[in-house]
Amino acid sequence: MNGAILVLSGPSGAGKSTIIHHASEQIGAYHFSISTTTRSPRAGEQDGVDYYFVSREAFEEDIKAGAFLEYATVHGNYYGTSLKPVKEALAQGKLVIFDIDVQGHRLVRAKMRDYVTSAFITPPSLSELEKRLYARSTDNNDVIQKRIENAKEEIKAIGEFDFVIINDVVEKASHQFATVANAARLKQNQEELNQLIHYWLEN
Ligand code: 5GP
Repeated sequence: MNGAILVLSGPSGAGKSTIIHHASEQIGAYHFSISTTTRSPRAGEQDGVDYYFVSREAFEEDIKAGAFLEYATVHGNYYGTSLKPVKEALAQGKLVIFDIDVQGHRLVRAKMRDYVTSAFITPPSLSELEKRLYARSTDNNDVIQKRIENAKEEIKAIGEFDFVIINDVVEKASHQFATVANAARLKQNQEELNQLIHYWLEN
């Protein structure tokens, strides 16, 4: 497995997917890890593109089968990362990008420390986050309130991340994200370091 993992966390509404799309030409080929969730699709979201949308029963079957690298309950729904596609992408040497919450970040870091670079992406303030969530208007007020309460907790984990990106101006945040993504590719896992030492000594 010679790829690398880039974990992105931050409140829903921080603009993570916009930033990834915006920066995609600057970061070269990557594999975006499509999560599985029990929440309902929002308007415009597609199964197999944004998420794999499944029932609670199906999700719990996958937990039992050990199919997840990590999973967590966020805003009352299950969200999880399937292990198999991640392993395959890493084996192909790809940069694998995760958009997961702070609990997921902790779990992935604990399991795959060698491979992980992480960034917390956030709007500049709580009031700006509220403004964006209401402007997006893809969720009802209760759901938005839950996301805001969750964000107030998530921000406290910001110190656990390698990098912080403040998404104030999208072009600037995307440029910073591209810098982080390209640095993540350079991270060497233990196996690569051992190979390098071996080669270095022999040549
Ligand atoms: P949303 O419902 O806005 O798409 O996502 C809600 C939260 O769940 C976001 O913070 C997102 O990063 C997180 N999330 C999405 N997929 C996963 C996953 O596979 N695992 C974990 N732990 N969190 C996820």
